[in-house]
Amino acid sequence: GQRNTSSAPDLTEQTLIAVKPDGVQRRLVGKIIQRFEQRGFKLVGLKMMRVSDDLLAQHYCELRAKPFYPSVLQYMTSGPVVVMVWEGHNVVQTSRSMVGLTNPVDASPGTVRGDYGTHVSRNVVHASDSLEGAQREIKLWFQGEDLVTWECCDRTSLCEP
Ligand code: GDP
Ligand code: MG
Repeated sequence: GQRNTSSAPDLTEQTLIAVKPDGVQRRLVGKIIQRFEQRGFKLVGLKMMRVSDDLLAQHYCELRAKPFYPSVLQYMTSGPVVVMVWEGHNVVQTSRSMVGLTNPVDASPGTVRGDYGTHVSRNVVHASDSLEGAQREIKLWFQGEDLVTWECCDRTSLCEP
């Protein structure tokens, strides 16, 4: 997403959401996609994959010094993930509130982690935490040509023009 230079709401902001291995194993992919669709966001990228150590190390570079970092890497490469790019007005911040706090014990009911998370190391989803983080992560996980540009038919129903 570009930064908003006009007064018009930025409908092109993008964020990276990933269903982690526990979410895939527990058959939660459909429910998670449904939440983002229902919130009015536009899906512009989607793939299932096994994550390489190299990609994960770049994705979680900020966690390198944490004691739990090795277990995060081991867990995230233990099975396939489903990674997505969602687009829409304030999608980064809204996604974080839809996903809930990192530790499921702190995540409010109604959030993905508050409804499905079982442990801080098994919290079902990843969501980018800032606009800059989202742009960095999207470039890491998706090639430009893997993102799809398309028009939503209901643009004026989602936002003031
Ligand atoms: P997030 O942005 O809410 O996902 O949280 P962070 O970026 O701080 O951490 C990335 C991921 O590392 C989290 O989603 C957790 O799965 C994992 N993590 C964070 N803190 C802990 C911890 O204290 N213990 C373990 N085992 N995992 C953690
Ligand atoms: Mg994070």
